[in-house]
Amino acid sequence: MSLSPHPFPPQSWAGIDDVVIVGGGLAGLFCALKLAPRPVTIITAAPIGEGSSSGWAQGGIAAAMDPGDTVENHVADTIAAGAGLVEGAIARGMAEEAAARIHDLLSYGVPFDRDLEGRLTLSREAAHSHRRVVRVGGDSAGAAIMQALIRAVRETSSIRVLEGFVAESLKAEGSYVTGLIARDRRGGLSARMLLPTRAIVLASGGIGHLYSVTTNPQEARGEGLGMAARAGALVADAEFVQFHPTAVDVGRDPAPLATEALRGEGAAIVDRNGHRFMFDIHEAGELAPRDIVARGVHQARHSGRGAFLDCREAVGAEFPERFPTVFAACMEAGIDPRVTPIPIAPAAHYHMGGIHVDGLGRSSLDGLWACGEVSSTGAHGANRLASNSLLEAVVFAARIAEDVQGLLPNHRMVRWSDESTADTAAGLPNEDALLERLRRLMDAAVGVVRSREGLEAALAEMDAIRATARQPSLLNSLTAAKLIAVAALRREESRGAHFRSDFPHPQPEEAHRRFLTLAKADAIAKGAIAAFQETSRHADLA
Ligand SMILES: Cc1cc2nc3c(=O)[nH]c(=O)nc-3n(C[C@H](O)[C@H](O)[C@H](O)COP(=O)(O)OP(=O)(O)OC[C@H]3O[C@@H](n4cnc5c(N)ncnc54)[C@H](O)[C@@H]3O)c2cc1C
Repeated sequence: MSLSPHPFPPQSWAGIDDVVIVGGGLAGLFCALKLAPRPVTIITAAPIGEGSSSGWAQGGIAAAMDPGDTVENHVADTIAAGAGLVEGAIARGMAEEAAARIHDLLSYGVPFDRDLEGRLTLSREAAHSHRRVVRVGGDSAGAAIMQALIRAVRETSSIRVLEGFVAESLKAEGSYVTGLIARDRRGGLSARMLLPTRAIVLASGGIGHLYSVTTNPQEARGEGLGMAARAGALVADAEFVQFHPTAVDVGRDPAPLATEALRGEGAAIVDRNGHRFMFDIHEAGELAPRDIVARGVHQARHSGRGAFLDCREAVGAEFPERFPTVFAACMEAGIDPRVTPIPIAPAAHYHMGGIHVDGLGRSSLDGLWACGEVSSTGAHGANRLASNSLLEAVVFAARIAEDVQGLLPNHRMVRWSDESTADTAAGLPNEDALLERLRRLMDAAVGVVRSREGLEAALAEMDAIRATARQPSLLNSLTAAKLIAVAALRREESRGAHFRSDFPHPQPEEAHRRFLTLAKADAIAKGAIAAFQETSRHADLA
């Protein structure tokens, strides 16, 4: 899809509204629709409908809407998955508002699947005690939801969408965020502009693309998180990155996902000898919690035994009808999953950590809100329950819209920034190579299995990459990566999605959320780099 034409030429950008949403995924679009008719500008790196995890969601949205289900059940399952770190009140509020938000989505035209009597079809996913996930077209929920929302956004005249603009930094005066600097990347242009703001809503998605094996689009590289931290915002739970155990390993970047529902249907995880090894690790086998399956698959691959998802018996000939998205991805890679086991790898999938926000979606900085994957509300704790992330995105987007509605409009001027553009065009190929170096490093040392030694070495290497990086986008990504590595170093235990080979068990005294500012992370990183240099010196002398 080509970028849509500029809505109006830059010269005439006087009196722009001052609510700016960064991100055109589910969180950003839903927030903009909820704000209507208040004017709002959405800034998005990729055209809406592309470059967002939302469009790729396969399962659906969790909501306790079955007559046999309750909000209490949903909260209990969310708390159990979160390994001791879920904020109970936040999880409860989210579960309570789920039905209302599903009705909003229906009113925007989302064609959720229904049964013959017209009731919403609810499917069951791993770690949910009830059938609770509303979906569309089998495994195509995200694409269908986004299509409906994009249509609604295009029809709403109060929403201005700037596609191909990359947000680079927040302008802060003390603890007040007063503007956003964004770069126009359309058609090779590279001018920067400053948008004065009363309210910025960061809805820029996750961090998966900081890893070389990921299910996330390339725009999900932690730029929003890094930008907020660089402006001084508090960050929560950054160490908790969920790895999906069954990404399809066919050398594609990002890796296609073999949805969890396949295992729910009975698909087996086997090594190259056909051994169903997950039962050696956990009594629930393939249906063990996501982090345990991810480590099992990681181990099998690292020991050379390989890991495959065998769907031949469980799904077989029905594959194309029942799982069309996965089927198409496999066939494109030359694998017919009806007759051949699918090679799999764990892939960075979802970030439980992010910009710390309260129950209204407010960050620690005035004028800055965050929702969707870039935020950390405390709803997911140390491990996300499947299909709770789209729910969290719409619940908090709606709350933020209500909060922001209370601000008085104040139309101001957009300025094109005087700052030179030389820092982008000149260094691009090198910057791409630096990003790839960072992604490989994150996989190797900040991935499924972590250790003090590896994390200290990773922080030293990040520092070396940082020394040559120039582009603000890359600096934002490096900042996000550093926050994850420092938080992982600081949590000396294993809990939920965070596993330390040198501290393989949970520690009861660590059963609480942890927060970081960038200044604190820098201080910890400095100590870690010194420790790494000391160890390397001793190794050289030995
Ligand atoms: C393959 C896959 C399947 C999934 N399945 C499910 C599921 O079934 N159920 C569920 O609940 N969750 C699922 N998830 C997780 C869920 O999709 C995401 O957590 C959720 O969509 C995040 O929404 P978001 O709006 O916060 O971010 P995204 O949808 O990722 O949108 C982020 C937006 O920000 C823009 N952006 C990023 N950086 C910048 C920048 N610097 N400047 C300007 N714009 C920027 C991007 O272009 C994009 O428009 C899945 C994720 C993946 C990857």
